[in-house]
Amino acid sequence: MVLADLGQRINNAVSSLTKNNVIDEKALDDMLKEICVALLESDVNVRLVSQLRNKIKTKVNLKEGAGHSKKRLIQKVVFDELCDLVDCHAEPYKPKKGRSNVIMFVGLQGAGKTTSCTKLAAYYKRKGFKTGLVCADTFRAGAFDQLKQNAIKANIPYYGLYTEPDPVKVAREGVDMFKREKFDIIIVDTSGRHQQEKELFSEMVEIADAVKPNQTIMVLDASNGQAAESQSKAFKEASDFGSIILTKMDGHAKGGGAISAVAATNTPIVFIGTGEHVHDIEPFSPKKFVSKLLG
Ligand code: GDP
Repeated sequence: MVLADLGQRINNAVSSLTKNNVIDEKALDDMLKEICVALLESDVNVRLVSQLRNKIKTKVNLKEGAGHSKKRLIQKVVFDELCDLVDCHAEPYKPKKGRSNVIMFVGLQGAGKTTSCTKLAAYYKRKGFKTGLVCADTFRAGAFDQLKQNAIKANIPYYGLYTEPDPVKVAREGVDMFKREKFDIIIVDTSGRHQQEKELFSEMVEIADAVKPNQTIMVLDASNGQAAESQSKAFKEASDFGSIILTKMDGHAKGGGAISAVAATNTPIVFIGTGEHVHDIEPFSPKKFVSKLLG
């Protein structure tokens, strides 16, 4: 089930409960059942769904309030618990002007890493940061060209080498160059694929050792299903990323896998990608997200 349908199903479940004259245990259970089925069909992890169900049940006191106020209370509890699903209450990293903030991107190939690097660079540029891009993906042929074309279009300085096969060297040189030139934000794109997963992860660790990122961001495709959770855990172990950018939120994403990934890694989503264009990026807010989900 795609996200828009999920919101609709949850809304329907809540309004059919609140339309009841008598809101009793059975009516509450029926609503919860419908919400849980909708979340499961959207790939949200079963453990999270069961936690959400129990939390709503504990928070709703059926003896409390009457009529209208009881309905409002139930709506609020459902809203708050949905927010909690996508909010890990961790304060995301905030870059500061006048110093070098190195941001390293990790994530599987195709997730939208290179696109998101440029989007984030353009976002910070609009906020007045001096921003540069480094392409440390020497594995995929064409990776540097892609970053270069995006960077030129967005008018953002970039660094990469066609002839150097060592991504660690390119990353270090690029970051050093931008540091010397007093850039505020230096974004490092890395490879998302290798012959073997082990190599991908060890390369990530080596690049991180070389450039000492202030922040590592994992890019996650919102349309990834159940697999998103285990992928994210593996990336968390290797790179200890501090935040997530969720891409392709404009598409027919189910979103539930990504929601589970946030909870499994206890890491905040900081931005969402909403299209292929460089300006299609928005800061993420749990409340805004859930309000939009529920229409
Ligand atoms: P990478 O392999 O992780 O670097 O992925 P790319 O940045 O090359 O992106 C893979 C594809 O996803 C490209 O066709 C992008 O245009 C597309 N893409 C990336 N982010 C978004 C997004 O937020 N929305 C949509 N619709 N497409 C996106």
